[in-house]
Amino acid sequence: MITLVAATNNPHKITEFREILGNNFEVRSLKELGLHVEVEEDADSFYGNAYKKAKAVSDICGLAALSDDSGLIVDALGGAPGVYSARYAGRDGDDEANRKKLLKEMAAVTDFNKRTARFHSSVVIVYPDGSSLSGEGDVEGKILFEEEGSEGFGYDCLFYSDDLGKGFGVATPEEKNSVSHRGRALRDLVKKL
Ligand code: IMP
Repeated sequence: MITLVAATNNPHKITEFREILGNNFEVRSLKELGLHVEVEEDADSFYGNAYKKAKAVSDICGLAALSDDSGLIVDALGGAPGVYSARYAGRDGDDEANRKKLLKEMAAVTDFNKRTARFHSSVVIVYPDGSSLSGEGDVEGKILFEEEGSEGFGYDCLFYSDDLGKGFGVATPEEKNSVSHRGRALRDLVKKL
């Protein structure tokens, strides 16, 4: 059994880490350890932010830490919101406002086939000795015209997955994890362990 501390305060990400990594891993949350760690995500890449979060948590608790930095890349918006996905509408983590802004910015793109987008995830494990391992994953899809379903979190109810042939907002957790950016990034990382 490999124990990893999830370097995130996002409960949805912790649930997905556990679902995707399965029984060979024990994923501990910062909350369970009585810690609250805020890291400024000021790097200009997903990998840079993921490394920064895992390093900060590993340094504080002296255990291996796992982090994910992820976001939505929309072609018609020149790659936005990208690394700024969590604070697209201004306030960090305001998912509802972020989705509202995305729909507004995409209103002029009326051809569904031109609403192409992908989620990207960089996952990093940092060990107490400072060494690290990383994985990357993408999932391709399109931005829906309106919210659909209530599964998942963040932009899920606006994301149609090409692989699943349906939106993440109406997919089961198993379906989402089987194709998602985070599922792919974690499986890429696990291969290297
Ligand atoms: P992070 O916590 O800085 O990595 O922010 C990632 C942001 O991207 C979140 O606030 C979500 O809005 C969005 N995001 C990342 N992964 C997902 C996902 O699996 N579904 C929906 N939105 C996601």
